[in-house]
Amino acid sequence: MSEKFDQIGRALREHQTFAVLSHVRPDGDALGSQLALGVSLRQLGKNVRIWNEEGMVDKYSFLPCANLLTRPPAQPENVDVAVALDTAIQNRLGTTVAAIKSAKLWINIDHHPSNPGYGDIVYIDPKSPATGQILFELMTNQRLPIDSAIAENLYVAISTDTGSFQYPNTTARTFEIAAELVRAGVDVGRVSQLTYENYPRRRAELLRDLLGTMRFDAKDRVASFSLSMTTAKKLGVLPEDNEGLIDHLRAIRGVIVAVFFEELPDGKVRVSMRSKSEKVNVCAICEKFGGGGHVLAAGARVKGTLAEVEEKILEETRDVVSRSSS
Ligand code: 5GP
Ligand code: MN
Repeated sequence: MSEKFDQIGRALREHQTFAVLSHVRPDGDALGSQLALGVSLRQLGKNVRIWNEEGMVDKYSFLPCANLLTRPPAQPENVDVAVALDTAIQNRLGTTVAAIKSAKLWINIDHHPSNPGYGDIVYIDPKSPATGQILFELMTNQRLPIDSAIAENLYVAISTDTGSFQYPNTTARTFEIAAELVRAGVDVGRVSQLTYENYPRRRAELLRDLLGTMRFDAKDRVASFSLSMTTAKKLGVLPEDNEGLIDHLRAIRGVIVAVFFEELPDGKVRVSMRSKSEKVNVCAICEKFGGGGHVLAAGARVKGTLAEVEEKILEETRDVVSRSSS
């Protein structure tokens, strides 16, 4: 670990121009990680672009220095180093890849086990609950600046990817890091409220609609709900509204697998899956349909109508869940 961190640290210090990138439909870990590393590099006097295909989403616009994160430019630019954060496959970087005319070096830092290791310097730690946690270790190990703004970004990255320090990948080390971040200036009450108690009314209306479509399979061990394009249009749903809604299914006693289906405009359905048991690997299910992720949290985009994709995925899931308990 230390040798790899030295290699990344050297690359960050030796170069001048950076593009810090992350995945489409960004979550708290993606955006928090991008801002934390980007701001730290700026404090080292580097020339840094922080790009995401979607730009800064409204939900995370409270993050310190959020204004530094922008959509990629139409005209491609040359950089010394491109850093991909929290992104399991390179094409999930979306339009940011085309915005880089050339990079001498690609660095890939991630915690998805399905990451194939694209790039010149690769650091993947599937045991880490968040890319933000890896960045904290890297930045402290390499003595990169961490002020209160950077700390808050790392805190939100870790808090959101651990389901607020609840998922089983949350370790003693995660709490130690959280403590360090609080010491560095994070106001836990304020940040938690901005992260978890600041949703638009639209999101609650969406949840009401989703619960209306809720169904149970495999003796109530599989729970799912679906969002059609008609409903999404009617409510004015934004992609960021979806984050965390699936937790309402996972929270039901007896449910092992939760599935969220979302009809997309391109003739595909976005499938989002969560498991409460290491014996039910939802990443393996999603990989069968061209997706990926982690054992307990995975996703895929599957061709077909909502009804067709629901049928295919639920059939496979029923099988896997039944086998796991036999
Ligand atoms: P979410 O359900 O929150 O969108 O995603 C859960 C996990 O599955 C994330 O770690 C994400 O990287 C992964 N994931 C989601 N959608 C896809 C997809 O279409 N392809 C791949 N390879 N991974 C995905
Ligand atoms: Mn992540």
